[in-house]
Amino acid sequence: MTAFYTCVNVYFELGYKPKFKKQQPKRQKNLSTTIKPHLIIALLLTSQLCFSQRLANYQDGPLDIIKLGDPTLRQVAQEVPLDEIKTEEFQSFLDDMVATLKNSKGVGLAAPQVGISKRVFVMKSGYSIPLTILINPTVEYLESFGKKLSTEGCLSIPRKRVRVKRYKKVKFSYYNRTGKFVTQQARGLMATVVQHEYDHLNGVLIIDHLNLMEKLLDYIDYIAAPIM
Ligand SMILES: [Zn+2]
Repeated sequence: MTAFYTCVNVYFELGYKPKFKKQQPKRQKNLSTTIKPHLIIALLLTSQLCFSQRLANYQDGPLDIIKLGDPTLRQVAQEVPLDEIKTEEFQSFLDDMVATLKNSKGVGLAAPQVGISKRVFVMKSGYSIPLTILINPTVEYLESFGKKLSTEGCLSIPRKRVRVKRYKKVKFSYYNRTGKFVTQQARGLMATVVQHEYDHLNGVLIIDHLNLMEKLLDYIDYIAAPIM
């Protein structure tokens, strides 16, 4: 028996590799093997967690953001008299608008959304949209550049996302907080935000952009909702 073990040891030390298992040929990687379903599920769960976290961090203030159903959201807002821009009260209101936008984690906020029916909105998003305060804005839609679909949410309609067709490029003019008249052009996210906020000044909301089928599905969802 001892001799047998010695022989086995010698075989192993000489580099003998017993073939216990037939080696499997390497499978070629294709799309179906590289995209793992469990990774997709993990990604979806993570994004859901991030979204919930964003909602948890959401807070109003210093101004209260009104929600769908409040009649102010449906009014056509009034022009701001130019001699009002430099008043202390109006400047303080602009500061509150900026602070409320920052706290809301949104990228744009119009005065009607805080219950003030005036033609004012503010916008800011990272480095792509510098903080801009627009008083009495006018928007020219540059139709020759075409339209694109944009998925949008609204601080006044929590948890709702709507796909809206927006012009790709716009030209817009406004008075800034010092009373200076400014004209700008925008494309991308800034063009979308300008159109969304300008809609608010005319009493238009993202749900007004739904097509007939989407409105029908929305209605079915509404009537089928549990009453609590
Ligand atoms: Zn909105």
